[in-house]
Amino acid sequence: MNSQYTVAKFGGTSVADYPAMHRCAQIINDDSQVRVVVVSASAGVTNHLVTLTQQKADEAQRQQLVQAVIDIQNAILAQLSLDADLAQGFEQTLVEFKSLAALPALSAQQCDEMLSFGERLSSYLFTQVLRNLGLNADRFDVRTVLKTDNRFGKASPDIEATAKAAQQRLVPLLDDKVLVTQGFIGSDVYGQTTTLGRGGSDYSAALLAEAIHAKSVHIWTDVVGIFSTDPRLCVKASPIARLSFDEAAEMATFGAKVLHPATILPASRSGIAVFVGSSRDPQAGGTWIEREKSTAPGIRAVTQRKNQILLTLKSPEMLLASGFLARIFTILSAHNISVDLVTTSEISVAITLDNAQNASRPELEQACLDELSEFCHVTVENNLTLVALIGSEIQLKQHEMNLMKVLSEFNIRLICHGASKHNLCFLVEQSHSDHVVQSIHEKLLESA
Ligand code: ASP
Ligand code: MG
Repeated sequence: MNSQYTVAKFGGTSVADYPAMHRCAQIINDDSQVRVVVVSASAGVTNHLVTLTQQKADEAQRQQLVQAVIDIQNAILAQLSLDADLAQGFEQTLVEFKSLAALPALSAQQCDEMLSFGERLSSYLFTQVLRNLGLNADRFDVRTVLKTDNRFGKASPDIEATAKAAQQRLVPLLDDKVLVTQGFIGSDVYGQTTTLGRGGSDYSAALLAEAIHAKSVHIWTDVVGIFSTDPRLCVKASPIARLSFDEAAEMATFGAKVLHPATILPASRSGIAVFVGSSRDPQAGGTWIEREKSTAPGIRAVTQRKNQILLTLKSPEMLLASGFLARIFTILSAHNISVDLVTTSEISVAITLDNAQNASRPELEQACLDELSEFCHVTVENNLTLVALIGSEIQLKQHEMNLMKVLSEFNIRLICHGASKHNLCFLVEQSHSDHVVQSIHEKLLESA
């Protein structure tokens, strides 16, 4: 049984400065069901910390970066005076930050420790902002409950251990308190700090919501929900009022930047409603993501993911033979390569791989290509974009006329439809993809 509690998460821009934090505190003050508050690092801080881990920086540059992080905190502290308990923890955290930043080279574990300081610092400040509004708020170190493996930089949560620790240590505190905790960070079995990957605070919020059996998780960001496409690309992009878990998961994986792609997993697994709204404009509404609420058939959004690689493998020997696909996928999997789209014919197969900057497998290794070349002819094409139409019960039949007409204007490299009723994907040349998305949005989504 889920409780009545809500977990609220505030992203970097929502806690960027004192006025932003104050607006977020009002949102919590107005909603007595919010008991766990997950904060990101203030905007810009994690980027500075990433540079600090990159070892290219010399001593003077490191000092500059440390100062830039401290300046962001100080600008907030100029309007805030910390209670003794928070001041002590905050100062201690700064001492740890400075001493780690003084080291010229960091281990993978120390890099995660470094990346954790943004969230650790912002959570002290935000707790005080809540206290100043009269709320009974405390800061809570999420590393005592959010347990992960030790893949530093992109750790995976241990769902069971997290649930157990949260029930023991977090839930008993929630009756009469609001707890402010950190997104993005966790700890391994030895208690060493880990991180969930960039943008991971959304995921943290959903994991904590699952662990405390919350009713809902509210993701407060700088846009009023999830849009039908990137509003920077199409002025007529509009926020979507309701999405099903499946649709939202597809949108996040296929490039909508609003939510970390893993966020929907715990929510959908545990039936926790997700709300996405703007902390600048909480009255403006937002997007609700819930189980099977959005069953009306149709296309709801168009997204794009750039930097895709298309791999075409052809083997005339395989005509009427079996095991071609099995052989290919065995090799790809041995090289830890995750495949997105696949289309096949009797003797050839085309697959797409993600080459995005933060993809776990940025380069297609030569060794892998060599192994594949032993039994097939391999062609690699770069600079492609995966465009995805997302919705419910997408059938070519319904949209046939319009969709085919729109697509016929472009040079489509590969098309995938049928495996999921929630998407129709295709590849286009990267240099055209913005235009493709704009055109599809205009013809298929703006008229609706
Ligand atoms: N602060 C982290 C980042 O910038 C995590 C997050 O904000 O979600 O990636
Ligand atoms: Mg984010």
